[in-house]
Amino acid sequence: MPNLNENYLKLQENYLFSEIAHRVAAYTKQHPEKNVIRLGIGDVTRPLCQCAGEALLEGAKEMMSADTFKGYGPEQGYEDIRKAIVDYYKRSGVEIDASAVFVSDGAKSDTGNITDLFAHDNVILIPTPVYPVYVDSNVMCGNKVEYIEGNADNDFLPMPDWDQHADIIYICSPNNPTGACYNKSQLKEWVDYALKNQAVILFDAAYEAFVSDPELPRSIYAVEGAKQCAIEFCSLSKTAGFTGTRCGYTIVPQELVFTASAGEEMSLNAMWNRRQCTKYNGTSYIVQKAAAAVFSEEGIHQCQENLEYYRENARVITDTLSDLGIRFYGGVHSPYVWFECPKDMDSWTFFDYLLHEIQVVGTPGAGFGENGKRYFRLTSFGTYENTVEAMTRFQDLLETK
Ligand SMILES: *Cc1c(COP(=O)(O)O)cnc(C)c1O
Repeated sequence: MPNLNENYLKLQENYLFSEIAHRVAAYTKQHPEKNVIRLGIGDVTRPLCQCAGEALLEGAKEMMSADTFKGYGPEQGYEDIRKAIVDYYKRSGVEIDASAVFVSDGAKSDTGNITDLFAHDNVILIPTPVYPVYVDSNVMCGNKVEYIEGNADNDFLPMPDWDQHADIIYICSPNNPTGACYNKSQLKEWVDYALKNQAVILFDAAYEAFVSDPELPRSIYAVEGAKQCAIEFCSLSKTAGFTGTRCGYTIVPQELVFTASAGEEMSLNAMWNRRQCTKYNGTSYIVQKAAAAVFSEEGIHQCQENLEYYRENARVITDTLSDLGIRFYGGVHSPYVWFECPKDMDSWTFFDYLLHEIQVVGTPGAGFGENGKRYFRLTSFGTYENTVEAMTRFQDLLETK
């Protein structure tokens, strides 16, 4: 019998979305006539933009002909798309080197797999509330994590405690689930703190495309010194509707070199390259072709139309909350709106209240950590019509009762 990785026993039961599905199914079974509106799950609804869809079809055709067929590609991604990503960063004034870009099947795999590069005795800081993958992937390999608290006092943007040492720091900005987005001087403080501690920041920029204020950093590399201390993860999932098509990328700058215990220099770029070449055989050619189209002038423009659609939905949600005097976070540079549950309810009670009274499904903040227990997340990823209908019901419910 094998000895198993018993760290899996330490994982918190990931019951959030299954519990939501279960409660919604039970309700619809009892009330089949009710029109339930889902503003809960973090999945997009707009289809692929035209040029990405066409590139997919074209790629498929190339695969069907012997003279254009592609087999295994480079593990790091094809040159064109790595270059297209470099150009995409350049548009917002950030210089990165193509050799730092690793194309992947999404940011979830990369944020989970990055633990392969580190030993198991690091001081790892993870904000709460946050995307649960960071904690779970560390627990799975036996790492201990420490939490940095996001709460109403710091607008869900925790800052470093300079008296505390750290080796690895996770940051997600704009944040899932709170929608909170660090400004440049706040990120600069994290970079300075990481440099002082010789720590590595693992920066998840999955929602960078939702940032509409040019003063706010969309990449951690907009901050001086970040290439000496940060790895950045990004994804086409929310930006370009790739949740089902699967493509993301990770930037590991050549500057990230640390000294091993016996004095050797170790490059994180070389290690990630080795890790990917060993355990990953590259992103599908067809998908990379579609992704490259997303980064074309036309693709960026077409994706902006979808982002604008979601922004309008977010405005519908935030306008309603403002009218009701409910304080919220996010919703401006993020598809997520995060707010304290009204009437002193905890997040699951409020979930049931919305489901039963107005048939609107959101996400209880408890699913994102201790600090989310009295908060609730709504997403702008629904259709416009459903969002308007849901928020009309929401306003009626919370005004009259
Ligand atoms: C959705 C999301 C991702 C994207 O994951 P993919 O695997 O690229 O679909 C990454 N990080 C956060 C915080 C997310 O919410």
